[in-house]
Amino acid sequence: MDAAHPGHRTRVDGNAAGGFLLDLFGRDMTGAQAACAHCDHEAALADAVAEVDDAGAILLCRGCGHTLLTYLRVDGRRTLSIGGLTRLRWAVEEAQAPEVGPAGIEPTTSTV
Ligand SMILES: [Zn+2]
Repeated sequence: MDAAHPGHRTRVDGNAAGGFLLDLFGRDMTGAQAACAHCDHEAALADAVAEVDDAGAILLCRGCGHTLLTYLRVDGRRTLSIGGLTRLRWAVEEAQAPEVGPAGIEPTTSTV
């Protein structure tokens, strides 16, 4: 049985921070490639070491253990601290944009 200690962060993988990342970026970022400034390790955020609690998440480099970024949600404020994250890149899926026809001028059918 793992007792929940207040203030104790659970150390998990980056997938656990997916909700925070979604909140932050408005999209799923767990597949984004994050590069570490300290050791040049580059891996998906899902592969980062995450420390998560109710207030936020800390993502740590799996290569060297340095903090990549810290995200906090406290008292209605969001705080993002960039640590050793030197680069973050992700693929942009082609959005299924609704077909917008040429902005045709609606013929005004005036019935007199
Ligand atoms: Zn590193």
